[in-house]
Amino acid sequence: MPLYPAEFTLYTFRMDAEIIAVGSELLTPFHQDTNSLFLTDQLNQIGIEVRLKTIVGDDRARLANVLSEALGRSGLIVLTGGLGPTEDDISREVASEVLERPLTENAEARRRLMERFARTGRPMPENNLRQALVPEGAELLENRNGTAPGLWIEKDAAIVILLPGPPRELEPMFAAECIPRLKRISTGAVIRTRVFKIASLPESEVDRRIAPIYKKFENPSTTLLATPGGIEVHLRARAPSEAEAEKLLAAAGDPIENLLGDHIFSTRGESIEKVVGMYLMMKQKTLATAESCTGGLLSERLTRVPGSSDFFAGGAVCYSNELKTQFAGVPAALIEAEGAVSKPVARALAEGIRKRTGASIGVGITGIAGPSGGSAEKPLGLVYIALADERGTEVREFRFPGDRARVRWLASQSALEMTRRRLSG
Ligand code: ATP
Ligand code: MG
Repeated sequence: MPLYPAEFTLYTFRMDAEIIAVGSELLTPFHQDTNSLFLTDQLNQIGIEVRLKTIVGDDRARLANVLSEALGRSGLIVLTGGLGPTEDDISREVASEVLERPLTENAEARRRLMERFARTGRPMPENNLRQALVPEGAELLENRNGTAPGLWIEKDAAIVILLPGPPRELEPMFAAECIPRLKRISTGAVIRTRVFKIASLPESEVDRRIAPIYKKFENPSTTLLATPGGIEVHLRARAPSEAEAEKLLAAAGDPIENLLGDHIFSTRGESIEKVVGMYLMMKQKTLATAESCTGGLLSERLTRVPGSSDFFAGGAVCYSNELKTQFAGVPAALIEAEGAVSKPVARALAEGIRKRTGASIGVGITGIAGPSGGSAEKPLGLVYIALADERGTEVREFRFPGDRARVRWLASQSALEMTRRRLSG
């Protein structure tokens, strides 16, 4: 039973949340706190902002400290992890101490635990009964995928939620048990976002173009992100209703979209390989690759897309000169005359692989990824990319900055962008 009537919470609930992820493994280099990302997304959708996140090991004193400080500053505190049956699962006990709500065995929790073990036919270790201990006044949150129930505790003006660590237990529990309750007591504001992804302009250029627009708006707020998959422009609007949030998004987002025009490859969050795949399927075309310096990276990215067998014919990694000839039919004399990293060889790779595979589009990539192999006239980062289809062949020269990994990545990215532009044009 909640300790306070709903009206009380409605009156005092503050719209700021913080997340405390509990678990010593989250402090090692091997595990990431992904639960808080899920929780933040869910909370944002109902208009609740996350102001702070903390990761604490399985350490009673430190967790107690973090939780009591949290009570002083946040209206909603979500703890994840440490609800299991073992000694190092400390969240329940620490919450009971800090909130001054003694643990008592909850008959309902005990019954559910026994039932669950009876169903699986396994005997219940004594330890598991710890999971039936519940701080006074806490409500149980049903766990459909595990034994530990979640806990919802209201203390003065704050709400404290304890959730199990495993994402497959936490996610359905939060969505089914917590979101509806939070919706009822939050003010009903929503947060909506719009994301534009751009592959062919640098961040500074995107900013130069759109800053005059986004600077005029405080709501939505605008963030530019440089990610490996391109530049992303995120607009974030907050409003009392979805329709109003969309209206705010449109006021700033539509002019930005117009300005960036066909530099935008996605407005729905898709990766560029996904967008290329969608175009190829829509136009019932197939693609084949002949890659030198990217070593198959382009093929690898295309095959990340589920259903890629419908549009990706395959590719050859033609690293040596011999295999450029053998796999893609590049004349040995051409390589001899122009050098392997040259416009004519890129063209021959694209046209050759297209012809050999019968794909509608052939892509050829040749370049110098480094760290060695550069020269004054062919510097590191020099890459030629060719795209051949029934309308002809386009070859472009690029000078990519960065180390080997970055040059290879940018080459695959530019090949995808060239393909997208050919297909959309
Ligand atoms: P269990 O009953 O499984 O012990 P628990 O509630 O005690 O559950 P933990 O022991 O803290 O949870 O974590 C169990 C597992 O859940 C971890 O090994 C990890 O794989 C995953 N996990 C825990 N916290 C997080 C987190 N913040 N983000 C992602 N995964 C997490
Ligand atoms: Mg545990």
